[in-house]
Amino acid sequence: MREIYHAPPSTALYDDRFCVVCVRAHSECCLEVSFVEEIKSLRLGEGDTFHGEGILAVTKALLQSGVAYVGGYQGAPVSHLLDVMVQAKPLMDELGVHVEACANEASAAAMLGASIHYPLRGAVTWKSIVGTNVASDALSNLASPGVLGGTLIVVGEDYGEGASVIQERSHAFALKSTLCLLDPRPDLAHMVHMVEHGFALSEASNMPVMLELRIRACHVRGSFQTRANQAPKPSTRDCLAEPAQFDYNRLAHPPVTFGHEKKKLEERIPAARAYILEHNLNESMPGSQHPDLGLVVQGGLYNALLRSLQQVGLADALGHSHIPILVLNVTYPLVPQQVVDFCQGKRAVLVVEEGSPEYIEQDMATQLRRAGVQTPLHGKDMLPGAGEYNIEALSLGLVHFASTYLGEASVQAAQQWLQDVQQRRADVAKALGQALPTRPPGFCIGCPERPVFSALKQVQQAIGSVHIAADIGCHALGTFEPFNTGHSILGYGMSLASRAGVSPMMQGRTLSIMGDGGFWHNGLLTGVQSALFNGDDAVLLIFKNGYTSATGTQDIISTPHAAQQQAAADQHASLSHTNTTIESTLQGLGVQWLQTVHTYDVARVKTVLKDALTSDFNGLKVIIAEGECQLERQRRIKPLVAQRKRTGQRVQRVKYGVDEDVCNGDHACMRLSACPTLTLKDNPDPLKVDPVATVIEGCVGCGLCGENAHTASLCPSFYRAEIVQNPKPLERLWAAVQQRMVRALQRA
Ligand code: SF4
Ligand code: SF4
Repeated sequence: MREIYHAPPSTALYDDRFCVVCVRAHSECCLEVSFVEEIKSLRLGEGDTFHGEGILAVTKALLQSGVAYVGGYQGAPVSHLLDVMVQAKPLMDELGVHVEACANEASAAAMLGASIHYPLRGAVTWKSIVGTNVASDALSNLASPGVLGGTLIVVGEDYGEGASVIQERSHAFALKSTLCLLDPRPDLAHMVHMVEHGFALSEASNMPVMLELRIRACHVRGSFQTRANQAPKPSTRDCLAEPAQFDYNRLAHPPVTFGHEKKKLEERIPAARAYILEHNLNESMPGSQHPDLGLVVQGGLYNALLRSLQQVGLADALGHSHIPILVLNVTYPLVPQQVVDFCQGKRAVLVVEEGSPEYIEQDMATQLRRAGVQTPLHGKDMLPGAGEYNIEALSLGLVHFASTYLGEASVQAAQQWLQDVQQRRADVAKALGQALPTRPPGFCIGCPERPVFSALKQVQQAIGSVHIAADIGCHALGTFEPFNTGHSILGYGMSLASRAGVSPMMQGRTLSIMGDGGFWHNGLLTGVQSALFNGDDAVLLIFKNGYTSATGTQDIISTPHAAQQQAAADQHASLSHTNTTIESTLQGLGVQWLQTVHTYDVARVKTVLKDALTSDFNGLKVIIAEGECQLERQRRIKPLVAQRKRTGQRVQRVKYGVDEDVCNGDHACMRLSACPTLTLKDNPDPLKVDPVATVIEGCVGCGLCGENAHTASLCPSFYRAEIVQNPKPLERLWAAVQQRMVRALQRA
């Protein structure tokens, strides 16, 4: 069947052989994650062997440590911890552990208040640095009175090449609020060991403990011998009979806060240092050849350092370093005597500390100076000040250190290797005629947010450029080519607030874009409430895709519940309109201009956007752009479609295509859609040189191609095909007739 320019609502069924995002077969796709196996591994008992990822090992370690409550806000690279715990509710109920998916990191940090008065072990998790920023008020107020029950804050240190947030260090928060900071060596057994000690360290010092896990530590794979899970006491199965006695000292309120500050310095830090020494939390690795030199490394960088040492000829293949290493599994507080003992008598020491400022190096320099130790201390003078310490960056620093203290000859081979790497990079750039282009991520295939950016691009062509306050979430992908949409990102849910100083200075209106995740995380209060209170003339577009998609499609308060999902599935309908919590909340707050649009209806989105940006209404105008996250939608309908196919029921899916004879090769469709399955191929016409557009395997038939062809008056090369599986007898007959007619016409 062929129907040119027909743009359906997004009811297309999908091609169930492939993931809509990575276009791999589902069996190979990383997004088709089921937590069934992970939950099984949480049940492992005494002496069993755990196999898996670092972050799951940490999750199991929480249960082995007798944690009583767990909370957090999802975000890479630690989403897995909370996702698995939420799905493991039956196990948590058996143990008496409370699990809470918190509204944001501030509410997660505030949850730790349970451990101020009660002997409850608690753990929370989030993505840092951004999450720690949000949580910092509660963290300060927790750290001031200190804790009775052990508290562990598992932060995903999203720093370096795979990071998705601003590049800052969580270390600063440990320093300013006096939290212990653990940075365990990425080895599963060791990470588990550090989690267990983390709770005990917190109890011994009354300090909250932060455990930072870099991206690679979260995903490192390995095994360890498990211990039995410990049921906490008190717990949800064994509740406290009475509240704690009133104790003003446990409030973060003057005048006791002055005493808290002294306690931190005079009691808590010394207690923490004593615990660290007594339990050998930091590790001293001997050096086989150069005991007169030393390396001090953050635990989380240990594996990379060893690999780099091996690369430059300063460690053997089994991981034995030629130079002694002090591995700081606790990076704050440092133990002065341990630092002095390690450095004393050495010709030089290199501190391997990722990111800036170099807090550890400065701290060590102070400790050595106070102790009168004159050992030269190197760090950022030899290693890069910014960026991830990958093997190349570490090797550059090690080569500098070794050539200074062991002579040039010792690192000749390493220098050659580094030069070769740089030469290869230069050769590739030369061959390309430019530096290697960056490869920014893009929206998933069929993402419901893409059509809005197509519409916005067209609207700006009509009414002129608009200042756009962008936000955190999948929609931030609209800042990349070809949309290039967004002037600022000030934090999760902060877009509306971030335009408050801009819009009064602009002749035209500004537009703020926010996701439903950001709306509930922060945007409702910091943006909407403030704009209404101040009577601001502002436009807010909320993407209502039903989930916090960018963090792994976790549910939020406006996620349709099971009955609504079933009803939508029965009707093959879009899911997002079934829950109207956002709309009723906005109306309850007093929003008077509120329009809902379906994102795939590009023409209507254009009309409503234009109206909001130009209407006479002076006040907050909110556009709710509805369209269920395609990733979640595919996960939801996949089993339904598979079942229909199995039982012989009719299944229809839609695909779009480009007629290569009609395509004129100007590629305007790509500049308006950026769909990965709408791409280029060589022009089959030998007389034309420009490549033509083509739709490849993986198109989910979302309809955007047809919509854009209509609304932007593109060339008439798109067609829409309906692929029917298990067709009905009449359909078979009609298809056969059509085929014969086509053949006859072709022959004629
Ligand atoms: S909203 Fe869903 S479909 Fe769109 S980019 Fe995010 S995960 Fe992908
Ligand atoms: S090729 Fe077009 S119709 Fe197909 S998924 Fe991409 S945007 Fe949607």
